Parts: sequence; C-alpha cells; structure tokens
Amino acid sequence: MRMIDEPSKKIPIIAETEILVVGGGPAGISAALSAARAGVEVMIVERYGCFGGVITQTMIGTISWYRYAQTIESGGIGLELEERSKSMDASIDIFGKIKNKELTDVLEQEGLMVEGKATYEVLDTEMFKHVVDEMIQEAGIKPLLHCTVVQAIMDEDVIKGVIIESKSGRQAILAKRIIDATGDADVAHHAGAPFNKSPKNELMEVTVNFGCSGVNIGKFLMYVYLNRSKFGDWGETSGKEEDFFTTYLTEPFKKAQEAGEIPNDVTIESYWGCYTDAGEINSFNGIHMNNIDPTDVWDLTKAEIEGRKRVMMAINALKKYTPGFKKARLRTIGASLGTRESRKIIGQYNITEDDVRNEARFEDTIGICPEFIDGHGVCIMPTTGRYFHVPYGIIVPQKVENLLVVGRAVAGDKISHAATRQMVCCTVTGQGAGVAAAVSIKDDLTCRLVNISKVQNILKKQGVRIE
Ligand SMILES: Cc1cc2nc3c(=O)[nH]c(=O)nc-3n(C[C@H](O)[C@H](O)[C@H](O)COP(=O)(O)OP(=O)(O)OC[C@H]3O[C@@H](n4cnc5c(N)ncnc54)[C@H](O)[C@@H]3O)c2cc1C
Repeated sequence: MRMIDEPSKKIPIIAETEILVVGGGPAGISAALSAARAGVEVMIVERYGCFGGVITQTMIGTISWYRYAQTIESGGIGLELEERSKSMDASIDIFGKIKNKELTDVLEQEGLMVEGKATYEVLDTEMFKHVVDEMIQEAGIKPLLHCTVVQAIMDEDVIKGVIIESKSGRQAILAKRIIDATGDADVAHHAGAPFNKSPKNELMEVTVNFGCSGVNIGKFLMYVYLNRSKFGDWGETSGKEEDFFTTYLTEPFKKAQEAGEIPNDVTIESYWGCYTDAGEINSFNGIHMNNIDPTDVWDLTKAEIEGRKRVMMAINALKKYTPGFKKARLRTIGASLGTRESRKIIGQYNITEDDVRNEARFEDTIGICPEFIDGHGVCIMPTTGRYFHVPYGIIVPQKVENLLVVGRAVAGDKISHAATRQMVCCTVTGQGAGVAAAVSIKDDLTCRLVNISKVQNILKKQGVRIE
C-alpha cells in the first residue's frame, strides 16, 4: 500500500479528568456510573450521537432474555438499567399481551413466566437513549458525543490520555485512568497492548437489524403459537434447552427462498425482539453476514449496504408468507450494523471455556454472571441457577498501565467470549472497572496493583453480587 507522512502539529487539550471512559455501550455506561458513584471525576466519550452502544445503535433491547425463574442475578448497574427503563416507561413486557392459555402455560413451565408475569422485559431502544442521558447527568459525569478516539497518548508504558476526532477537529483529553469500552479494544490497540483477533472467516457474524410497523399482532402471535420455535432448532444446546420456546422465525424466509425470491447463498433466520400496541415489531435480528472484519472500514461499508438489501428481501418475505404482516412496512434499520466479535485483549488472566461452562470461582472476582453462553454454535441458558465468577484479570491488559478494557473485548477464548460478550456480563466488567479505577486513583496505585478487596467491598455496596 502507498503511504504518506502525516505532518505533526500541536493540538488543543480540551479536558482533563480523573477517569475517562471511551465508548458508551452497556460496558461504558456501567463503568462511568460506577466510577462516579465511587467518588471520582468522570468523563465519557462516544463516537455516535447517543449512548447505548448495540442497544441504541443496533436496536437490541433484549438485555435480559437470558432470565428464567431460577436464574441467579448479577445485580448492579445491569439490573438498574432495566429497572430505571421500566420506571420511565422505556421497556416492554414481551409476553404481556399473550392471552393464549396454552402458550402462557408453556412459558410458565419453562420458567419464562412466573404467576402470569414475564421474567423479563425488553428495553425500548429509542427511549433508552433518553434514559441513559438522564442517568449520566444525574451522576455528574461529563458527556462528550460525536467524538471518535483515534490515538493513545503514552508516557512509555503508561497511558496518559487520548486524541479524539470530531467536527471540532483533532483534540486531546488527558486522564489519570482510561477505561476502553469501545467493544473493539480501539484504545488498547492504539496504546500497544497485545490483543487477539481471529481471521475474519472465523469471527462471529455482523448483523443489520430492522423493525416493522403495520403488523396485526394478534394474528402474528397466533401464528407464533401454532409454529412454536425451539432452541434446539438453531444451536448446540446443553440438552435441557432443546424444547424451550424461542422467538425464532425461519419459515417465511425459507418459503421466499424456495420461490426464488431470496438467493440460495443468503441465509435469513430471525429472532423478533418485541411488539407494541401500535402494531410494531421493533427488532428483527436476522440479517447476518460472515467474513466481515469489524475493524476494516471497507468491510463495514460492504456489510451495511448488503445488509440493507437483505432487509428488503426479509420484509417482502414477511409480508407474503407471515400471518399478520400483509400491511407491514419497514419501520427502522439500525443506525449501525452490530458487531459481535473483533479484537480481544490478552489479559492478566484469559477466561476459558472451562471457566464459563463449569462455574469457575476466582479470588479476584468483580461480579458473577449466570451460565449464559450464546455463540460459536453453543447455546446454554441459565435455567438452573448455575453461574461463574468474573475475574478482575480479564479486564487488565498486558504491557499498558492504567488502562482497563471492558465489555466484549475482555480477555478470553472463543467459547468464553460467547458468555462475556452478553450485555449482562459487559455491565459486570464495566462496573468492576469503574470502581477499580476509582480505588486505584484514591490509593495512588496502578490499576494492575489495585487493592482488590477494597474494590470488592465497594462493588458489594453498589449492589453487585460478587460471590
Ligand atoms: C445483532 C446483535 C444482537 C445481540 N443480541 C444480544 C442480546 O439479545 N442480549 C445480549 O445480552 N447481548 C446481545 N448481543 C451482544 C451485545 O449486544 C454486545 O456484545 C454488547 O453490547 C457489547 O457491549 P460493549 O459495551 O462492550 O460494546 P458496544 O455495545 O458495541 O458499545 C461500544 C460503544 O463504543 C463506541 N465506540 C467504539 N469505538 C469508539 C471510538 N474509537 N471512540 C469513541 N467511541 C467508540 C460505539 O459507538 C459504542 O457506542 C448482540 C449483539 C449483536 C451485534
């Protein structure tokens, strides 16, 4: 590739803060809130115009779809995000409108409903933008939107700040501690921390998500009942989930393929997220594309455009072959495609498949996660109360000091990623990082050397279950 030299120049320092969180997804929101509540000065920078990450950009409101009657809760900010959304009318009871007795009986038997109430609600992903704005402001966190972090400012192996790019140009922010919540470990990458990234043909798929309006919900739910989908239809379950209900839809897309309306090399199999009284199905998570590197802008462009083309194919198939969709229209396409996997740091500890499958316990636990594994062909739902500890070591990168990396970029292997990438686990690593960074500042120790029992005590006070 031909190269040019970028001329060096002086750039303004627009802010100095104790803790800087980069990225405003579930992990970044949790990191910023927990750090602010631990009594330090916090700033959060996000490249798009709203916080929420995959929730608001890709319209994925199912933060809690893992929850069954027996599930052990992580607590903390993950749960608070749900509760706060509910209190602001920003979540939807996915099973609330189902009046079909046979189906509600099934949901009760499977632990998805208890005494007529669903065990989880789905976030209203548009309202969630406002919910997070409120929470960030209440906590006294300084927000900065529309800013992409493009470089790390280093003093040998210690991170001292970042360079951002925005409509205001190239600027710098200095911070005592930095939490990388970009999902892609962008800051760690710029800082020179070692990471892994699988070859793109082995990475999990990316998704362009869409929603529909004009749906006859009653007719659709009857169809869902008569064509009940099971977990066993789509992944390697542990056995117990094989016959469990899931909102998985394949038939209309198969019919369109048989009729030659969807090409044979295009697979559309979709979950639907939730419905509203206004005849909307807010989220169809089914336009998946493989062989895309989410850190390659050419690949991202290709996937966005191809994804939207496939959305049109899916809508036509829904209208033609799904009861209740005759008058349906496209309502929204996610503002950005959703990424499941890209860079993962090599950590002080790298969590393993064995850890997440066998209820690992760690001295440096910063939280627990229910046994919820979804990805790379494995599907285990936390229906039995099993859970694993999340160790601090997976958010501490090698070689770079005073940087913590949270969310889906934490250290671990492929199958553990299918657990740590889940939003509930992202909120756990985010909250743990926020508190650890705050304690490390107060004690004047690096993040690597932080007193973990102090961190654990504060996390407990913040409502996190750590053991
Ligand atoms: C289609 C899809 C469906 C999913 N379904 C579910 C589900 O039902 N339940 C579940 O629990 N999980 C689900 N997941 C997984 C989960 O949503 C993600 O793993 C999780 O959101 C990751 O959280 P995060 O905070 O690490 O990153 P993200 O949510 O990706 O947030 C990262 C944030 O950082 C910002 N950012 C990135 N780079 C920069 C930069 N250089 N400078 C500034 N800002 C930056 C981004 O704009 C974004 O806001 C799904 C994922 C996808 C893609």
